[in-house]
Amino acid sequence: MSKYKFWFVVGSQSLYGDEVLKTVAERSAEMAAELSKVLPYPLEYKVTAMANKQIADVIKEANYDDTCAGIITWCHTFSPSKMWINGLVNLQKPYCHLATQYNLEIPNEEIDMDFMNLNQAAHGDREHGFIVSRLRMPRKVVAGYWKDEKVHARLGDWMKAAVGVAVSKEMKVMRFGDNMREVAVTEGDKVEAQIKLGWQVNTWATGDLVKEMNAVTEAEIDALMAEYTAAYDIATENVGAIRYQAREEIAMKKMMDREGCKAFSNTFQDLYGMEQLPGLASQHLMAQGYGYGGEGDWKVSAMTAIMKAMGENGNGASAFMEDYTYHLVQGSEYSLGAHMLEVCPSLAATKPRIETHHLGIGMNEKDPARLVFEGKEGDAIVVSLIDMGGRLRLIVQDIVCVKPIMEMPNLPVARVMWKAMPDLTTGVECWITAGGAHHTVLSYDVTAEQMRDWAKMMDIEFVHITKDTTVEKLEEELFLKDLAWKLK
Ligand code: MN
Repeated sequence: MSKYKFWFVVGSQSLYGDEVLKTVAERSAEMAAELSKVLPYPLEYKVTAMANKQIADVIKEANYDDTCAGIITWCHTFSPSKMWINGLVNLQKPYCHLATQYNLEIPNEEIDMDFMNLNQAAHGDREHGFIVSRLRMPRKVVAGYWKDEKVHARLGDWMKAAVGVAVSKEMKVMRFGDNMREVAVTEGDKVEAQIKLGWQVNTWATGDLVKEMNAVTEAEIDALMAEYTAAYDIATENVGAIRYQAREEIAMKKMMDREGCKAFSNTFQDLYGMEQLPGLASQHLMAQGYGYGGEGDWKVSAMTAIMKAMGENGNGASAFMEDYTYHLVQGSEYSLGAHMLEVCPSLAATKPRIETHHLGIGMNEKDPARLVFEGKEGDAIVVSLIDMGGRLRLIVQDIVCVKPIMEMPNLPVARVMWKAMPDLTTGVECWITAGGAHHTVLSYDVTAEQMRDWAKMMDIEFVHITKDTTVEKLEEELFLKDLAWKLK
């Protein structure tokens, strides 16, 4: 993610004279430099924008610069907004309006008309905001003093969501085989997903993967085995099964890297020529930032990769997850999430164990090796992208992950336990009413606000289930959104 930066475009106009404009430029450069020290991505001061062509030019430049992940604007002085129209109508990058001012205080003794002339963001930012509302452009507005930590945190969160947009637009998903037969929610319009989100979703034959696996050398497997041994506890005698997973991982990684794919899916119904469903292999790939979706679920796979990129270091604690079963005891109500094998170890509370167990479902000839662990405690979200036919809907639910309340010694997979908002049964009613899938991305790093920003920038529907959501309010919201999106 280190290639990305953001541009600081500061609004003004020529009538203030050179002295004022020089001060605006100096202060803007200073602010960008200072903010770059505390934000997750560099903020580069680009221009003090004073004329229509100048603004149109900087926006054209931003559109075509792959390293520019978005622009942040601010008006130190007044900047008449008609001169922004011709530029803004062409903007294709995420856009944040920072409503701030250079000074913290109104300087009692010092304030005079010269001060007012230079420091008029309070009304400059209003003129700037009007035209963007009039243009109905998606943007984030962050208000507050530019040295305030809360402002830094909100700008930083928005930057990461904007990087999620850049990653989405370059997303390529490698599908090994098709979706699991007869399943509805993992289907979707791949052409629509590419138009809206930029995703290139294509299928490769399992036979091509088997050919690649056969070409993997013992030396390559030895090297990956050393990585496994360093990162995980080996809790099986069956080293052959682990080596087989290493072979699968190396082959999948080679194919994905060759094609520039950052996410993949497979299905237990199409493992022709393979001895094991990739378990450990998929888990270790996810730990390196690749997205994954089981049963051919390419939507959750791409979302996992994007949310990992939005988290810290491009490999945040975001993972493919599935709701499995409930604990419905009153006062102690929890969801248990897991998957057949493939839960990312970035969620793990302690060092994961490599185990081998029989897996009855699918075409496994041999017992697949997998990582087994408990998920971390903490606030998190679960995210589901569904195809409503004609549009995509992103559903986010707030959850609190807990240490699993029981050992479950015979459950041979990684597990995460959580309390969903507003409570388990209302949360389930809301989730089902919204049409949320059984597959989700669970994230401790990415926030609901970041996903809302991402959905806004992607121009897709967003639904958020919080501690305050009721089924009644949600039904009304979904009904109104359905009408709105049909008109859009
Ligand atoms: Mn599944």
